[in-house]
Amino acid sequence: MVSVRPALLALCLLTVLAVAVACGGSDAAAPSPTTVPPTSNATPQPPTATPAPTPEPTPAPTPAPPPTLDFSASQPRQGGFLFARLLYPPGGLTEATVEFDGASYPMLPSADRWFAVIGLDIYIGVGDYPITVKSGDAVLAAGTLTVSDGGFQYESIELPPSSIDLLSDQNAVANERAMLTQVFSRFTPERYWSGAWILPAPGPITNGFGLMRSINGGPYSPHTGTDIANEKGTPVAAAASGVVALARPMYLYGNVVIIDHGAGVFSGYNHLDSIAVTEGQAVTIGDLVGFIGETGFVSGPHLHWEAIIGGVRTDPLLFTQQPVDP
Ligand SMILES: [Zn+2]
Repeated sequence: MVSVRPALLALCLLTVLAVAVACGGSDAAAPSPTTVPPTSNATPQPPTATPAPTPEPTPAPTPAPPPTLDFSASQPRQGGFLFARLLYPPGGLTEATVEFDGASYPMLPSADRWFAVIGLDIYIGVGDYPITVKSGDAVLAAGTLTVSDGGFQYESIELPPSSIDLLSDQNAVANERAMLTQVFSRFTPERYWSGAWILPAPGPITNGFGLMRSINGGPYSPHTGTDIANEKGTPVAAAASGVVALARPMYLYGNVVIIDHGAGVFSGYNHLDSIAVTEGQAVTIGDLVGFIGETGFVSGPHLHWEAIIGGVRTDPLLFTQQPVDP
């Protein structure tokens, strides 16, 4: 009853704020003054007039490029992410935030720039959004971001009533949600990952992120991760480096490992048969975190893999398709 589904491919529609960078300054060399060497001729020659030296032109100061907003690593679609970079930040900048869709996101410095990673909710409206970088009340840069459609598919499935018994314990469901919300609300002001992420386990992707599913005629709700199917006991690796934020049995999610990658970005590994890490442990990309299982609300062994940014679930496959660097 597991159907193999192609991974959702992201089409990105970028709006890059183009800013012309003026290059100023001239280093034209002044001509060397010519002199006539003395000759051995006995007849004295009148001295040739030495041209007055041309004054060195004063180079015009190179204007500093204006602070510039850049979205070039973004996947700005429903369920994607926004990588907001501030290039050419003003000197002495100590704090900056991105204002987007009614919320404020802290930026972090990285080498010569500042950045923030922002999750785009599955339900965010398609269209153009103003986006602003501020420091205090000062606007440093502004632009427009175009969010495109996630292209999510819909399906209805029927499950035996006994298999959805877990959903009837509303208290347990609410407690689990509250605990996860609390973990995902943390913001570590450091970036532990670099480059592209890896797939955490081998196996076919059986359900893509964002699939709108109705169970037994109920309302449609989106699939919050990517399912990788494989046998119980298949090793599961950290998709990127970070620190284990949670490693314990949960309710619907079964045995769970959540890794904090810093900058508000987390990944989750769910329905594990067993857990191989402890909370607070630092992990490097590729490290073993657990084994595929069928704990929690499942209909067979698989890894339900999630990518969460600022509490918003996004498509984890997007992080494997390109370097995700500031
Ligand atoms: Zn899943």
